[in-house]
Amino acid sequence: MGTEKRYYENPYARSIMALVTKIDGDKVYLNKTIAYPEGGGQPGDKGTLNNKEFIDTQKDGDLVYHLCPNNNFSVGDKLLLNLDWDYRYTYMKVHTAQHILSGILYNKFFVGTLSVHQGANILTIETDKENFDEQHCYFLENEANKSINRCEKISYREMDEDKAQKLTLRRSIKAHGLIRVVDIANVDSIACGGLHVENTGEVNYVLYVGQEIVRSHVRLLFKVGDEAKRTLRLMQTIVDELNVRHSAQAFELLDIDEKNTTKIIEFEKENRELTQLVANTVLTTFINKYKDVDVIISEDVSEYPFELSAFNDLVKSHDMALLFIKKIEDEIRWLIYLGPSYDYISLKNLKSELFSIVNAKGGGRPPLFQGKADNTETDKFLSSFRKLINEQKKE
Ligand SMILES: [Zn+2]
Repeated sequence: MGTEKRYYENPYARSIMALVTKIDGDKVYLNKTIAYPEGGGQPGDKGTLNNKEFIDTQKDGDLVYHLCPNNNFSVGDKLLLNLDWDYRYTYMKVHTAQHILSGILYNKFFVGTLSVHQGANILTIETDKENFDEQHCYFLENEANKSINRCEKISYREMDEDKAQKLTLRRSIKAHGLIRVVDIANVDSIACGGLHVENTGEVNYVLYVGQEIVRSHVRLLFKVGDEAKRTLRLMQTIVDELNVRHSAQAFELLDIDEKNTTKIIEFEKENRELTQLVANTVLTTFINKYKDVDVIISEDVSEYPFELSAFNDLVKSHDMALLFIKKIEDEIRWLIYLGPSYDYISLKNLKSELFSIVNAKGGGRPPLFQGKADNTETDKFLSSFRKLINEQKKE
C-alpha cells in the first residue's frame, strides 16, 4: 500500500502523527505524510521527525520517504512530523505565481511555457518565443497583479485521462489514470500535481525584474511576494544612497553617471599619455648614463609610479640589452628587452643562468620578455644580467 498523501487533502497542515513503515538507511517511510516530495519543479519539503531534522522528501514509486540522516527510528515507531512551514509556503506561493503568469502568457499572448525554475529568490519562465517586448512584460506583470488583487479561488477537478485530454489545456498531459486539473478563475487551467495556495491573494505581489535569452528563447525573471518587496526596498535604498552621494534627484543619476564615465575615459587617456612621457624620460636618462659603453641597462625602477609595461613600446626604438625590475610587495616584476645587436641571446640561456637567482617565472617573444620573481637577491639578478650579456658577447 502506498503512502497516504495528506498534502493534497490539506496543503496547510503543518504537523501530523504517523507510523514508520520502513527504514532504509537515512530514508524514513511513513504510513502517511504532509511533506511534499520533489516534483514538477517544486523542491521536496524539509522539517523534523520527533525533533530530528529531515532535509528532503522524495517519491519512491507509490511511497514517499523523508531523508533523515543519522536517525535511530524503527518500524512501528509513532512520529510527530513538523514541516518547515516558511520554506513550504514560499514554494506554494511561487508555484501559484508561475501558474498565473504562464496562464496569462498563454491566454493573452499565445505564448507557451517551455520550462520554469521556482527558486526561493527568483522565479523564471522560459517561453517559446525568441523575443518578447518589455512593454508586454509590464502588461503581463499588471495582469498577474490584478488576478492577485481579485483574490481568486484556486479549485481542483479530478477526471479520467480521456476526459482531461479533451480539455485542450495549455500543456499536454503527461500523467496517466486519474488527472488532477487545477483551475485559477479566468487565468489558468492545467493538469498539475503540485501544491498551490487557496486563493491568488496569498501570492501578494509579482514583480518583473528582467529577461535573458536561453536556448534562443526569452526567459522572463520575476520576484514573488516578500522577495519582490525586498527587491524594491533594496533598489530604493541604492537610489537614495546615490541621491545623497551626488546631491541629485533620482532622474538625474543616469546623466551624472554618463558624465562621470566620460571624465574617467578622458583621465585614463591623459594618464596613459603622461605615463608614456615620464617613462620615455626615465629610459632616455638611463640610455645617456650608459651611452659611452655598450648599452646594457639593468636597473631597479621601483620608485616610478607606473607599471613596467609602460616601457614595452618605448624600448623597441633603441638598440640595447635592458633589464628593469620593479618591487611589488614581496615580489618583483621584471622586463627584459634584447635589441637587434643582442638578438643572438636566447631565452634558454637567460633561463638557465639568470632566472634561478630569483626564481623568475614568465616568458615572451623576442625581443621582449617579462614576468614575476621573488624579491630576494635582486642586486645579484641585476649584476648577473650585465655579466651574462658581456660574456655572451665575447664568445
Ligand atoms: Zn501547479
